[in-house]
Amino acid sequence: SSFAHFNFDEALLAAIRKSEYTKPTPIQAQGVPIVLSGRDIIGIAKTGSGKTAAFIWPMLVHIMVQKEIEPGDGPIGLILAPTRELSQQIYQEAKKFGKVYNVKVVCAYGGGSMWEQTKACQEGAELIVATPGRLIDLVRKKATNLRRVTFLVFDEADRMFDMGFEPQVRSIANHVRPDRQTLLFSATFRKKVERLARDILVDPIRVIQ
Ligand code: AMP
Repeated sequence: SSFAHFNFDEALLAAIRKSEYTKPTPIQAQGVPIVLSGRDIIGIAKTGSGKTAAFIWPMLVHIMVQKEIEPGDGPIGLILAPTRELSQQIYQEAKKFGKVYNVKVVCAYGGGSMWEQTKACQEGAELIVATPGRLIDLVRKKATNLRRVTFLVFDEADRMFDMGFEPQVRSIANHVRPDRQTLLFSATFRKKVERLARDILVDPIRVIQ
């Protein structure tokens, strides 16, 4: 398998090659075509599998298409992660590839400056990477809104449960419009994750690392 099998444009392929990735990881080879087709997925994958790029690349393609169809404010892509560290790692990857299309990426986590994050959201964020509690705070304070979100990712769902974020995760899923694409990643597939998947995904395809 090679990156050329993904129908990405030359600019994105060039950025991928430049980052010295030589070939897709298994989760990328399996997952990218499914995500590009618009289907919901449950990805059972750990850190180190390359799962972040597997959802960032199709997400950027989605954002480029969607922003033409639906101009406006508020992010089109939303990624929820359990911790500040993970949200920052995802943010770095999103920025690296988002540069190709000038996609405006913002990272928002608990403990960071509300003022800075509000300002960043209001400067036209198209993709937000956030921890669940902080995202809800930002929405409540009207720093951002979820009306335009059509691509939603929950990363490390099992850890979000461990950290007590289930109510926030469910609340966010309920506040994003139903005509969205949803991706759920988890290192394990426990009962709680299975139940969440059943509630927030539509006819998902399961991809196992
Ligand atoms: P992740 O599992 O998403 O946390 O990614 C783990 C690490 O692998 C990150 O440092 C990525 O930049 C890197 N990575 C992602 N995709 C590839 C690939 N196809 N080839 C080599 N490294 C990769």
